[in-house]
Amino acid sequence: MSRIQQLTRWLALLLLAFGGSASAAGLDVVATTTQAADLLRVLSAGAGSLRITALMGAGVDPHLYQPTEADIAAMNAAEMVVYSGLHLEGQFETVFEALAEQGVTIYALSAPVKAAGFIIGGYDLSDALKDVDDPHFWFDPRNWQLTAAGLAAALADFDPPNAEIYQANAAAYSQQLDLLFDWADAGLRSIAERQRYLVTSHDAFQYFGAAFGWRMRAIQGLSTEDEAGVGDIQATVDFARAHDIPALFVESSIPPDTVQAVLEALRAEGKQARLGLRELYGDAMDAPESFGGTYIGMLAQNALTIMQSYACMGADVFIPAWPPALQPQPPEELWHAECDA
Ligand SMILES: [Zn+2]
Repeated sequence: MSRIQQLTRWLALLLLAFGGSASAAGLDVVATTTQAADLLRVLSAGAGSLRITALMGAGVDPHLYQPTEADIAAMNAAEMVVYSGLHLEGQFETVFEALAEQGVTIYALSAPVKAAGFIIGGYDLSDALKDVDDPHFWFDPRNWQLTAAGLAAALADFDPPNAEIYQANAAAYSQQLDLLFDWADAGLRSIAERQRYLVTSHDAFQYFGAAFGWRMRAIQGLSTEDEAGVGDIQATVDFARAHDIPALFVESSIPPDTVQAVLEALRAEGKQARLGLRELYGDAMDAPESFGGTYIGMLAQNALTIMQSYACMGADVFIPAWPPALQPQPPEELWHAECDA
């Protein structure tokens, strides 16, 4: 052993003996997706013991995201990695295996939802999707309640001194999600059932539809890894024409090309249709400090965008007042639909 190796070893022993690990003053937790990071922030509010690192930012597609060297180093140094699961983070699987071997706790947010049997759940689901683990489980707020309870229990096991805080935060958040569900449900179901088709770029919204009584039609499948072809675009054009779909929606984590191609084909036939007033949050939320960077804001903004876009095209829509107890409140400008913009 060289002198430098001896010195390094001695320093490491000294740190272990006296400093403990860096985690002595808290726990390092890594979140893969924006949704996972938001839930960790909500559940750990007031606990002060979690240091949360979020790997994916706003607008990032988790199906395609490759962990960087810095991501792998952060996960390696963490006590716990919280991810979505059901193969959403398709490029992480070998990294997770290696981390688990090194003793890092790898926690799948989807596990309690899968255990509860909410894996399929679509509204009027096509046979092709009936036996598939659809990774987009968070889009039903009732699934997110199960997710929050599951993560709170995992955090409580991991950090027993703060167990009561995690559990109390999960209980309070569950009440917020009840308010969110009722608000979105009243608005989205106010649209006539024959018009309730959500046409999007990829198939992220089956659970959203299951929750609020909408059928889905996506150009791409459940994962953006399968590329959309000319046939997929034509099939969506035919569908939108047959069902008189007034608005098509682009997702913030996916390039708009395919939805625009469908819209142009419809317009070339003289059909009245428009893009949604805003992009929908599909697999990624917005920046953490913004309304759409929270789960509640993300879901509420999607619901508002759908309701307002349909209303702009003449559909009968009832947009309910925001429950005063539900936080965060949508920013004022979200209530004003600029139909001509
Ligand atoms: Zn997706």
